[in-house]
Amino acid sequence: MEPSHIEHIGIAVSNLEASIDFYEKVFGLKCYKVEDVPDQKVRTAFFRIGQTKIELLESTDPQGPIGKFISKRGEGIHHIAFAVKDIEKQLKHAEEKGVTLIDSTPRKGAEKLDIAFLHPKSASGVLIELCEDKNS
Ligand code: ZN
Repeated sequence: MEPSHIEHIGIAVSNLEASIDFYEKVFGLKCYKVEDVPDQKVRTAFFRIGQTKIELLESTDPQGPIGKFISKRGEGIHHIAFAVKDIEKQLKHAEEKGVTLIDSTPRKGAEKLDIAFLHPKSASGVLIELCEDKNS
């Protein structure tokens, strides 16, 4: 699959403003975007650290994936996203390798990326997101 880099790390937070404050005040990073992703029932905030981003995820619905994650496990790292090329082909490849997919076809995520999740049970408990920037 050969991902080129870690595109972002997704962190589930219970209070987006407080967490933005933390990254801005402690690390001197600048939040460059806050974006609603209704499809995933989250509000997101982004920071850049080199080539990688930090994606803060605040739930907008207790029944959404982040709402459920936080009620079960509390705040913390939710997923790691790998930047790939030709995401459809990579999903097929993962499936052929016996990986359980959450998304068998890509959908639109934050930042207009095409994204798809692999199931954590296939990846040592880590939720892995593949993403491809087809806009660049
Ligand atoms: Zn993500």
